[in-house]
Amino acid sequence: MSWLWKHMQPWLAWAGLACCVFWQPGHAAVTISDASKFLDQAEHLRTTDHPQFVQMLEHIHRDAGELTSSEQWRLRYLDAWETMFEGDYSKSEAQLRNVIDHSDDKILASKASALLLSNLGANRRYEEAYALANRLTADLPHVSDPEARFLLLTNLSQMLNLAGQTDLAIQYAKMMEDVIPAGETLCRPLSLQVAALYNAKRLAPASPQLQQAIDTCVAVKQPVFANAMWLVQSSLYLDENMPSKAMALLDRIGPSIRLTHYYPHALSAEVQRAQAYARLGDDNNARKAALAAVTMGSPDDISEWLKEAYEVLYQVEKRRGNNTAALSYYERFVAQDKGYLNDITASALAYEASQQHMLVQKLETERLSKQNNILRLQQALDLKAVEASRLYIVLLILGLASIVLWLLRLKRSQLRFKRLSSLDGLTGIFNHQHFVGEADRCLRSLEKRRGHACLIFLDLDHFKRINDTYGHAVGDVVLKRAVATCQQQLRSTDLFGRLGGEEFGILLLECARSQGLLIADRIRAAIQAASVDDDGQVIRFSVSVGLAPTHVFGYALQRLCKEADAALYRAKRGGRNRVVADIEDEGLAVA
Ligand code: GH3
Ligand code: MG
Ligand code: MG
Repeated sequence: MSWLWKHMQPWLAWAGLACCVFWQPGHAAVTISDASKFLDQAEHLRTTDHPQFVQMLEHIHRDAGELTSSEQWRLRYLDAWETMFEGDYSKSEAQLRNVIDHSDDKILASKASALLLSNLGANRRYEEAYALANRLTADLPHVSDPEARFLLLTNLSQMLNLAGQTDLAIQYAKMMEDVIPAGETLCRPLSLQVAALYNAKRLAPASPQLQQAIDTCVAVKQPVFANAMWLVQSSLYLDENMPSKAMALLDRIGPSIRLTHYYPHALSAEVQRAQAYARLGDDNNARKAALAAVTMGSPDDISEWLKEAYEVLYQVEKRRGNNTAALSYYERFVAQDKGYLNDITASALAYEASQQHMLVQKLETERLSKQNNILRLQQALDLKAVEASRLYIVLLILGLASIVLWLLRLKRSQLRFKRLSSLDGLTGIFNHQHFVGEADRCLRSLEKRRGHACLIFLDLDHFKRINDTYGHAVGDVVLKRAVATCQQQLRSTDLFGRLGGEEFGILLLECARSQGLLIADRIRAAIQAASVDDDGQVIRFSVSVGLAPTHVFGYALQRLCKEADAALYRAKRGGRNRVVADIEDEGLAVA
């Protein structure tokens, strides 16, 4: 967890520690009856009582087989934290990525991501760190768990402060105020805001934000945070050339800094002390303090504080005329300055690069989404076109169907009309014209087959009398009855038509003369037997029949008509109610 203080102002460093740094220990020696609770306690102890945390981690590893899957993921996360704490960043990175990629626990994954952010920064992999920061920023709206969100915002604020994006760093720090999890206080967000304001050179020793952060951290008993704020204040006193005030403050917070054993603060305090002594003209103490500072860390550490310590040493030796020592300190000062600036530049450049990358991605996403919209529009249009053509087809089918229907109805009414126009209105049998046409057609076809037929003419006897006696309407009834009676004697193949008035024609097809005579007489007899009732009065009637067979007169209709008519005339003349066939025959049947 030391990466930040290597490269930045030390009071920012503690912010890099994972969440809930100062949770009060109190349950250190627990047995694992409840693994989840045990993991909670271990997590809260990890920075306040690190040895105890390590012990608890070992303990729970012995019982790891009995942990649930989610507890095992939490243990892996704590392992990663510990690995990182011990300084093995690449192993810790792999462990964190495992948790991020494979744990189902979104909160845990968020916490691991926030930790990975610190990890990448610690490895000076700024570009990846900022790329991750960008992704996490995009995910931020979906992180609602207070602890995960608080941790994420902490790391984002720190990263952005490191990149020189102080306004954003302040913004994220302010957002933390809304999601303070259990065990945390306002102290951390306020401190992060102060760190960003300091970095932006927007802070004075008496700035209200600084005072508020100090008061808050003191009130909630968080001495490391309070010390960090005081160190900011003493640094500001030095910046404003008030070394006595700085010294007084450093003296005041010295015991607390020693008590907390926090290296970055001890280093910072020592360097500031050296600077204050130097400004006050106490080169001896300035040198002592600066030397104490440079011996605190390892020789390859690079930080702004070491740079300033070497600067003090260089100036003191220069004032004393120790040119060789002065030059040596100056070289170290330059090396620290260069290293520190390189690091800051690398970090800022990486941030710029990641922003560019994000911008390109955003543009690409916008381009793709525009393309998508066009495609979607195209699809919608295609769909509409398909729907429209389906509609056209349906309309076409409906149109065609209605035309076909209309044609069928037309045909039907034509047929009906034709049928009606071929029938007699009163009796429903063929009218004269149609009977003649059909008879002619049948005779022609019969002639080809050399078949036989008989043409019969019928005329009701004394029909005028019926009309005169009973009225025209009764006459109509008699006509209809006579027709119905005839039809009963006929086959479906025979043609039957009304020739006019009370005269009818029948063409008996496939019928020889003798058979024709029998049928004709059956008709006559049936009509004679029929009657019509008129108000209780029975009306009887008879018919005279003339018959002309084809085998005697041939197939010409006209000739057959003439002969049938002549035979009928003879039947009338012979006394009516009879059938007459040919000239020689003067009445086959008589009533
Ligand atoms: P005949 O035995 O010589 O045939 O005597 P007839 O009275 O039947 O003689 P005629 O042919 O002169 O008379 C036919 C009558 O039929 C004349 C006419 O008023 C009547 N008539 C013709 N068409 C119809 C009709 O549609 N309905 C009725 N009720 N009478 C009709
Ligand atoms: Mg007549
Ligand atoms: Mg008649």
